[in-house]
Amino acid sequence: MDTDDVLRTLGIDPAALDPAPPWAPYRGTSLARIDGSRPCARCGQPARATRVVDVPGLGRRWLDTCRDDFLAASRLLPSRMPSTVEGIVADLRAAAAEAGTDLTIVTDDVAG
Ligand SMILES: [Zn+2]
Repeated sequence: MDTDDVLRTLGIDPAALDPAPPWAPYRGTSLARIDGSRPCARCGQPARATRVVDVPGLGRRWLDTCRDDFLAASRLLPSRMPSTVEGIVADLRAAAAEAGTDLTIVTDDVAG
């Protein structure tokens, strides 16, 4: 389920979400959004959590949510964390390539 499907499942209009910056927001920026002045994108209660979601066709958007809807979205949104060693290595390789640097991975695994 991609981000667009998750938002549709939760009944959230992606076009109504505030645009987010193209960079990873500083923690203080995220905390400032959840001061209780913004409504949950789903139910309208004061938002207590926020995250940036990448919406196909719209780009990065703030998803401000109450606690319950944060948890509901968390269960549905694809995990950004790799769950296998191969996935972790692929992420490290992609990050090194993006940074234009070499990558050396050293492990203590012993091939059996
Ligand atoms: Zn809510």
